[in-house]
Amino acid sequence: MSKAKCTNCGDVIESRHQYEFVMCTCYVEASDKVIAFEKTHGKRDDEFWKFVKENSSGFFLDGGEVYTRYGGNFSHIEWISTDILERLEGLDDE
Ligand SMILES: [Zn+2]
Repeated sequence: MSKAKCTNCGDVIESRHQYEFVMCTCYVEASDKVIAFEKTHGKRDDEFWKFVKENSSGFFLDGGEVYTRYGGNFSHIEWISTDILERLEGLDDE
């Protein structure tokens, strides 16, 4: 489960299912220029994806418990669910 708070608009958003795409109120893709992209295979076929977009506001979450995909302005993301942090730590164990 991915759950996080936007420090810009205050929304708490949560992706509970694989195809549940959620975004905060202030989420804006100011540019469709992808300035960074990362996809890493972890344990249990989990995938970790992140998109960084220039001049974005807020963020989106997707993937529920199957994978974690998020994008937007990373400085606006305050993680509540620790799932994603555990996955990141888990990648180092292999
Ligand atoms: Zn927001």
